[in-house]
Amino acid sequence: MQPPFRIGYGYDVHRLAEGLPLTLGGVRLESRLGIVAHSDGDVLIHAICDALLGALSLRDIGYHFPDTDAKWKGADSTRLLQHCAQLVREQGYEIGNIDCMLALEAPKINPHNTAMRTGLAEVLGLELHQISIKATTGERMGFVGRQEGVEASAVVLIFHAEVRL
Ligand code: MG
Repeated sequence: MQPPFRIGYGYDVHRLAEGLPLTLGGVRLESRLGIVAHSDGDVLIHAICDALLGALSLRDIGYHFPDTDAKWKGADSTRLLQHCAQLVREQGYEIGNIDCMLALEAPKINPHNTAMRTGLAEVLGLELHQISIKATTGERMGFVGRQEGVEASAVVLIFHAEVRL
């Protein structure tokens, strides 16, 4: 029998460098520093993908979307997210809510919070209130504080479609 509720946790980190695009939560941000990655390197979406896969005990993002697979190479991260959400539905589950944390020194995330959540809600077929995005800095400590990288984590609750909330 499928458990009525499951939780998942995801974490991702990418390096930052000058002159590269910075896309977080599907939103392209103005920034001196951008993400070093083969894909768009959207750490926030990658963390959410891993949280969704984790809730299903379906391993991780690297297993499902290997760099070596031409189908996913350089793919827009929203496509990966759509695929993970599809896996949730195929297992008979719905997403309850997603709570995320971003850690980076700059730029400020708050002005883009609604745009990110609106876009993600659309991709996932959710209401705005089901997605939370929070951000913090590294207080100039560690790799986040030195602006060497950006870090994201996410937790998700999924519930079986037969559960009446
Ligand atoms: Mg990643």
